[in-house]
Amino acid sequence: VVRRVAGVGPRKLLDVKYPYWNRGLFHSVSTELALAETEQAVRESLLTDRRTIPDATRDLYPHEIRAQVHFAELDANTTEAAAAIAREWAGIRDQALATLRVDLGRLPDTLPAILDRLAELNSPTAARPPLDLDLAAAIDRIEQLLLAAQDAAATQVVAEATRQGLPTFPLPPASTTPSRPLLRAVANHVANHAAAHVVQAAERAARSTPADNNDPVREHVLNAANDASTAAGDDLANQAAHRAAGAGRQTAALNGPEPREIYASELLDRNTCTPCSHVDGHSYPTLTAALNDYPFAGAYRACVGGMRCRGTLVFVWDEATPTR
Ligand SMILES: [Zn+2]
Repeated sequence: VVRRVAGVGPRKLLDVKYPYWNRGLFHSVSTELALAETEQAVRESLLTDRRTIPDATRDLYPHEIRAQVHFAELDANTTEAAAAIAREWAGIRDQALATLRVDLGRLPDTLPAILDRLAELNSPTAARPPLDLDLAAAIDRIEQLLLAAQDAAATQVVAEATRQGLPTFPLPPASTTPSRPLLRAVANHVANHAAAHVVQAAERAARSTPADNNDPVREHVLNAANDASTAAGDDLANQAAHRAAGAGRQTAALNGPEPREIYASELLDRNTCTPCSHVDGHSYPTLTAALNDYPFAGAYRACVGGMRCRGTLVFVWDEATPTR
C-alpha cells in the first residue's frame, strides 16, 4: 500500500532529513511510519521548547519556526495578564455590590422604588446622581497590568529577533508608547463594565420579580447581582490582555529593523473563525500592510470574535537583515 504522505508537520525541519518531501514522490508504509515518528518527535521537542502549545490549531509553519516565536510563552503571558485583570474586575464588582447595597438601602423596600432606581442607574441620562463609586485607583491598577503585558510582549519580540541572530534593539518604555491612551481607555472600560454588570444584573432581577411579590425586593436583587455569572468579566479581561500583548508586539516591530517577512498567525486561536482560518499564514509585503490587517498587532480586523481573536503577527528578519 502506498499513498502520498499528507503535507502536515513542520516541513522545514523535515526537509533536512527528507529533501524529497515537497517533490510529490510516493512513500512506502515504513517510510511513512518513520516520517510520522519523526513528526511526533519534532512536535514534542517544539512543545518542550515552548515554541507551541498542546491545543494549538495546527502544527507550526516553517516561517513560524524560522521566526523563533515561543508561542507558549506568548500564550502564558497573555493568560497571566488576563487572570490579573479578571481579579481586578471581580474586586470592582464586589465594591459595586457593596455600594449598591448602601444606595438601595436609602429607598423604601418596594418593587417600584427599587426598580425605578436601578433603571435610573442603568440610564446614561439619569436625573439623580450615579452610584457613589470611585474607580480611579482600580483603573490605574488595570492600566499598569496592561502596560506590563505590553512590555512583556515587546520584550519577547526582541528575544525572537536575537534568537534569529539580530543584535538586540532598545524598546521605549511602555508608558511612552502611542498605544498608551488606548490601553488607558481599555482599563477604563474594564472597570466601568464591572460596575455596570452589577447594576444590570440587579435590574434584570427586579424586572423578572412577579407582580404579586410580597417578599423584600432589595435582598432579592442584590443576591441576584451577586450570583450573576462573571464569565463576561473573564472574557473582557482576556480581550484586554490580548490587546496589550498586541500593542507590545507592534511597539517592538516598529522600533526594530523592518522585518524581511511578516506573516499572520492564528496558531493560538482555539476557536478559529472562517476569516481567521483564511488569513492564517498570509504573508505581508510591509509592516504597514500587516498592521492594516492586525491593528495594534492584536486581533485580525475581520475576526468574527473581535478582540477575542488570539491572532498575531510573526516577524522574520534572519539572514537577509544587515547586522549593525
Ligand atoms: Zn477569528
